Amino acid sequence: MLWLIDLDGVVWRYTTLIEGSDEGITLIRSTGDPIRFVTNNSTLTRAQYVEKLGGMGIEAAEEEIVTSGMALARRVAPGERVLGIGEDGLLDELKAGKCELVAPRSPEDALQAETVALGWYRKFSYIDMSNACVAIRNGARFLATNQDPTYPLETLIVPGTGALVASVIASTGVTPEYAGKPGDAMVELVRELIDGPALMIGDRLTTDGTFAKLLGAEFAWVASGIEEEPDASIPVSIKTPNLLEAVRSKLG
Ligand SMILES: [Mg+2]
Repeated sequence: MLWLIDLDGVVWRYTTLIEGSDEGITLIRSTGDPIRFVTNNSTLTRAQYVEKLGGMGIEAAEEEIVTSGMALARRVAPGERVLGIGEDGLLDELKAGKCELVAPRSPEDALQAETVALGWYRKFSYIDMSNACVAIRNGARFLATNQDPTYPLETLIVPGTGALVASVIASTGVTPEYAGKPGDAMVELVRELIDGPALMIGDRLTTDGTFAKLLGAEFAWVASGIEEEPDASIPVSIKTPNLLEAVRSKLG
């Protein structure tokens, strides 16, 4: 079985390991089953995710990391002029896709962009919002890594990518294509990895649960991240407090 594991709110909360998730992943490793860590968080590069996991005692390979930045980059053509607003994880994937990154020095410069690519950006400013607005009002495509409105710190909930996206929608009236879970780009990307049964472990029903449903994968809903209301239209196979309990429940 292929294990698809969300990171934020499942393996860790921000920079703190969720108790037992390292043990849960060790249990999966002992079965020899493949794992992919599937995250809507485009701040880190694949290499940085491997390092962050390693720092928490979880060994992983870059090939096992799947980010919303990777999914978004699939929607961009080589040579396309892209206004990338985000952190290393998004910008690296855009560069790998050989697009031409536009770096506006004035609002007029933003008119050069054919596409706006927006991900979680913890230095997001009025200038970024304004550049995105100008480009999109000029006809640029609008792509976003994900819609998650919030992000779980250790104890607090702070704005996620969806909140940044909302500010751009407010001045343009344009809704982006969302690349990450449960968007089509991520579904296509992960479907290429699946050749048998799969289980998605995630904390967000709307994001991870819908994603699992679209993939035809089982969904294990864990309560270690963002709390959401149940929704009968999204199937849940396992409901547990955390990843370790989900793995134990699945492996019996
Ligand atoms: Mg999550």
